[in-house]
Amino acid sequence: MNQKFQGKWEERWHPLRREWVVYSAHRDARPWSGASVAPSKESPAYDPACYLCPGNVRARGIRNPDYRGVFIFDNDFPVVGAEAPAVPPNIQDAHPALYQKKRADGIARVVCYDPRHNVTLAQISCNQVAHVFTAWRDQMIEFIKNPSIRFVLIFENRGEITGVSNPHPHCQIYAVNFVFSLIEKELDAALDFHREHNQNIFDEILGCELKSGERVIDENESACAFVPFFARYSYEVMIFPKKRHATLASMSDSELYDLAAVFQSVIRRYDSLFGMPFPYVMSFFQAPVDGGDYSQYHLHLLLQPPLRSPGLQKFLAGPEIGGGNFMADAMPEDKARELKQVDLTSYQGAD
Ligand SMILES: [Zn+2]
Repeated sequence: MNQKFQGKWEERWHPLRREWVVYSAHRDARPWSGASVAPSKESPAYDPACYLCPGNVRARGIRNPDYRGVFIFDNDFPVVGAEAPAVPPNIQDAHPALYQKKRADGIARVVCYDPRHNVTLAQISCNQVAHVFTAWRDQMIEFIKNPSIRFVLIFENRGEITGVSNPHPHCQIYAVNFVFSLIEKELDAALDFHREHNQNIFDEILGCELKSGERVIDENESACAFVPFFARYSYEVMIFPKKRHATLASMSDSELYDLAAVFQSVIRRYDSLFGMPFPYVMSFFQAPVDGGDYSQYHLHLLLQPPLRSPGLQKFLAGPEIGGGNFMADAMPEDKARELKQVDLTSYQGAD
């Protein structure tokens, strides 16, 4: 084989999704070395047309309070909610085992991270990021007590490329009456792995990554971030508390602070490397909150950025949409190295 293809062209097993990822980094040989520039602060701190800024009126006539820290409210146009209409029974000729439906019950919320319209989680103080994490934990404690909620997805779509129309720093919470399919997959993988190996799959992944260190981007006493061995997106990062927690509800203040600090370090590296507020889809993976035994689950954050390099988007097409498996464009070790090498000592935040 041609020497230049070595180690850049292979398939890797994704043990949590239980599928193969194909790496063809030999087609994208030039590594991106990045550019360090200060984040843009061109837009104003207050936008009178923004429905998330303090004091402004939202779509259904409700006025936001003059909030100072984190502000949480029920989504005005929820995908799930107590107002969801009743669902009529199946039509007579439908097969009940195949064609199932139910009410779109649940709670959809918006979490504003900061009153300022023009900042990001990367730019605000680490203390304020920790306040956001604490607010998420408080939400989880509330949802755990609610018998109609089975699962809670906390996610942030960052940047226009991910489809978000409002740049005001915020995320969403979907508390729903079903378990999102990726979590079900991970739960099944964890239970099977425990049965077959008598080990916890997340502990083993975490242990392997920390031992090798090759893909670790940052860590502190109780949290760590790495590009996983089986990353699908270039710059994909997983962030774990080192101690196993099924949901945020059981995490201590200091563990939350450490998790927030490592998370912020990763997104600051993104911004610094690309010289822009870097777009990503962030999702918080937690166990269901339906009272089941999820002791094998280990919560984590997953960052899936849509950019492969500046101006170059990863498009999902035939293999991903058509076939369901991912064709990755970069080797996880190369992307981890780029992120690790970013020097954050001169990073300029907004505070
Ligand atoms: Zn705003």
